[in-house]
Amino acid sequence: MDTPNNAPAPLAPLSHCRRIVLKLGTNILRSDAGSVNAERMNAVGKAVADLRKTGHEIVIVSSGAIGLGMGRLNLGRRPTRLTELQACAAIGQTILMQTWEKAFEAFSITVAQVLLTREDVRARKRHLAVKDTLDHLLFLGVVPIINENDTVSTDEIKFGDNDILSALVASLVKADLLAILSTAPGLVDREGTGEIVPLVPEITPEIRAMAGGSETATSVGGMVTKLDAAHLATSSGCTTFIGSGKDPAILPQILMGKAPGTYFPAKDNAIHSKKRWIAFFQSPKGTIYVDSGAREAIAGGGSSLLPKGVTGVEGEFESGEVVNIKHSGETFARGVASFSSAELLRAIGRDSKEIRRIYPERHHFEAVHRDALVLLQ
Ligand code: GLU
Repeated sequence: MDTPNNAPAPLAPLSHCRRIVLKLGTNILRSDAGSVNAERMNAVGKAVADLRKTGHEIVIVSSGAIGLGMGRLNLGRRPTRLTELQACAAIGQTILMQTWEKAFEAFSITVAQVLLTREDVRARKRHLAVKDTLDHLLFLGVVPIINENDTVSTDEIKFGDNDILSALVASLVKADLLAILSTAPGLVDREGTGEIVPLVPEITPEIRAMAGGSETATSVGGMVTKLDAAHLATSSGCTTFIGSGKDPAILPQILMGKAPGTYFPAKDNAIHSKKRWIAFFQSPKGTIYVDSGAREAIAGGGSSLLPKGVTGVEGEFESGEVVNIKHSGETFARGVASFSSAELLRAIGRDSKEIRRIYPERHHFEAVHRDALVLLQ
């Protein structure tokens, strides 16, 4: 569906969006035969060069390593064994970067390869180091080209897919706009009009129901993960666009707020960057269950979580590790635990006076301090 010229644009122009993360899916960068689609990548190079002339900073999250490796090895189907996938990624990543290098050379733009695993953005020190490096590359006028380091990523340290990776990168570098470009033309209202939904102010269960997961023979990630990515990015204050990347000339149109596809405006009450690290970059080590009073105090009043409102503890965690906070079957918050799971088990339901008696050496009695606690809705 195209936006007719006389129809109102789904979103006001996004000219304030200076820092842009561009995510390109495998099937945009690879031909059906499995070779690299240099023509399209050159067109991306041109579109990015034009955007930079108007003061935009661009970070690219590029998929395609596994798909191109498969092409080089003449594999028709995506392998299932991790070692084979890792070998494909190692082969395909160099093809990707050679082609990106050439595509940008034509415009005298230097590119940089950044390969990440979840571990690299989890530990606070490394998280900040990645952010500083990306900031510095942008300061130098370089286009960082990011992919998951598939060759060393195993299940435990995987981002999942590049849609999520691109949203985490957008959150990390405080991007104003994330454009997820793939062969999907946007979010289609399957049950209703059958057309693309141009604007999603909030990702409701009805919106989620419109997305069906998909995995093709070459790549992963469907509309479900794209919605997760949009949720993560918009909660981080970054407007998100999902649309087709077949014609890279769409880029300026995206910034005008009238590209065919789906826009997700940045949330007004975006999560602060230190808390984003807690909310999105960590793998929680356990769960703290709370009663309705505690939930209300946390969600409504911005309070810390006190052991008095805790009803149960699941998993083993140390103090300083991130945990989910759950009530009535819903994980509504996440935070850094001040007690280990073993300590907290002894403190459940007790008030500060009693806890002082059990742990005389402690000076603070919150199970999770409000400065280290973030609401997830
Ligand atoms: N990192 C994978 C690759 O380069 C792509 C994963 C994805 O597309 O989500 O092949």
